[in-house]
Amino acid sequence: KIAFSGCKNHPCGLTSMHDLGLIAKKAVVDGEEKEGFEMYVGGGLGAVPFLAKLFDEFVLPEELLPLSQAIARVYARLGEKQNRNKARIKFLIQKLGIDEFRRLVKEERTTLENDPGWTEWLSNVESYEEKGRGPVTQSETVDLGDAIADFEQWKESNVYQQRQAGYVSVTLALPLGDLTGQQMRDLAAIVRTFTPDAARTTVEQNIMLRWIHEADLPALYLALKEIKLHEAGAQSIIDITACPGTDTCKLGISSSRGLAGELRQRLAEKEWQYDVSLRDIRIKASGCFNSCSQHTVAEIGFYGASRVVGQRRVPHFHLVLGGEWDNNAAQYGKGVGVIPSKRVPDVVEFLIDTYLKERQDGEKFPAFVNRVGRKDIRDRLKPFMDIPDYETNKEFYRDWADSREYSIGDIGIGECAGEVVTLTDFGVAKAESIYFDATLLLDEEPMNGNVKAAADKALEAMLKAAQGLLKVCNIDISDDPAVVVQEFRTNFYDTQLFFDPFAKGKFASYLFKAYDSRDGDITLDRAREIIEESRLFIEAAHECNARMLQAGITSPAGFKKWMIDREMQTV
Ligand code: SF4
Repeated sequence: KIAFSGCKNHPCGLTSMHDLGLIAKKAVVDGEEKEGFEMYVGGGLGAVPFLAKLFDEFVLPEELLPLSQAIARVYARLGEKQNRNKARIKFLIQKLGIDEFRRLVKEERTTLENDPGWTEWLSNVESYEEKGRGPVTQSETVDLGDAIADFEQWKESNVYQQRQAGYVSVTLALPLGDLTGQQMRDLAAIVRTFTPDAARTTVEQNIMLRWIHEADLPALYLALKEIKLHEAGAQSIIDITACPGTDTCKLGISSSRGLAGELRQRLAEKEWQYDVSLRDIRIKASGCFNSCSQHTVAEIGFYGASRVVGQRRVPHFHLVLGGEWDNNAAQYGKGVGVIPSKRVPDVVEFLIDTYLKERQDGEKFPAFVNRVGRKDIRDRLKPFMDIPDYETNKEFYRDWADSREYSIGDIGIGECAGEVVTLTDFGVAKAESIYFDATLLLDEEPMNGNVKAAADKALEAMLKAAQGLLKVCNIDISDDPAVVVQEFRTNFYDTQLFFDPFAKGKFASYLFKAYDSRDGDITLDRAREIIEESRLFIEAAHECNARMLQAGITSPAGFKKWMIDREMQTV
């Protein structure tokens, strides 16, 4: 995935989350100022998010294609071929390190034969330039009547000056990104009237109209009002992005669209879309960890999860805080905890109220989260994590916008991933995310507290992967680490189901060793070792999962049958 951004500060290109990100800049080369790009590689979201790394501070336009070709060739040669989940440049760069990756790419570049196609497009660049329309469509004297106050609010939040004097761009805020067929037809007529016949979709599920004459704004507003596309608050805290979630995506665990609709209504009632101090806060909700709403780069992000309470499942959302949408998504958010779906709106209101009360002068939301700390925030959110029993409040056992009792029985093929995903897949993917958090702890500041916490996290990641595998024997396997370790030993180690063809039981021993030494002292070296072993254990879990799928072991019945067959073979 490739993204271009015209500047560094704004999130329009989101270069930090793409395989190849390019930010326009100027630099002096051989005493002459030239236009070119800052180049980033290896970004990506998904279950294991990676911020892109700086590849080159300045690349001339004529080098863009050959350098991209060299990157693609190195990736094609050394990238993952077997495991689809690891087939991204970000994993190759993690494995090699950015310096070695850069060296290989530059070496590859020298082997490429010159291709005229690399630079032919440069002579044609001006043809891509856009021009404004001709004369103004309406006079400035359009009577807005009672709509004047709403018009001013809309203008404040949805209209932006273009660099060309007299022209503005306008964002149409689409709640949940939806448009009806009739709205599309009517909008087409508006686009033909007020723009040079073009509309653009945005990454926040809105539509942008450009090259609007400023004097046309009142007439445009009234035309949009006619078709109910005149809502203010574009790109504000109520302009929430949601993936399809459980509405239509078979990977969806919780109703991200239902949640987004509820949040939009609740936050709009507080008129927070007009509060300038909340202007930079974005909320995004995904139905599962796959990040299709880009929750990782939102200031407040959510992704779906499910928990068992008593005999029933309860829809939840993981809360991810501290991402930074601005500066091309400069910072990824980190997990804070898991919240029952029905408490999420209360949590958002609590977080915003707390921010408004406690922020320091000019402090943005991500900086506020960093200063207060995820642990402190999590502690304050604990009261929101409790779930009443079914008889006390059945609402917790239903998802948003769904009157049925919640279940995840229909999870299967996803809209974006396009492959069958089992509960084991979810568990192992979650383990990867926890493993990533463990590495972050050591990356940030390898002090005493962090070292122990990182080792604990690495163990937690292994336990999560083991628990994911155990779902195939027992869908309601306990969260208790002692039970997970014991059950894993019985079902996967003693049966040799987890055994690697070459390393045999070596990877399983990493879990047993880390669990047995969990209360002992941890040195920095040992923490690093546990993290590394955690990575290998998760890899082995992926492999084991693949073997099980191949052998038809995808359910408790399949597992039982495999055990019986195995015993018969042994006899
Ligand atoms: S796979 Fe993507 S679209 Fe489907 S629920 Fe997960 S995040 Fe949403």
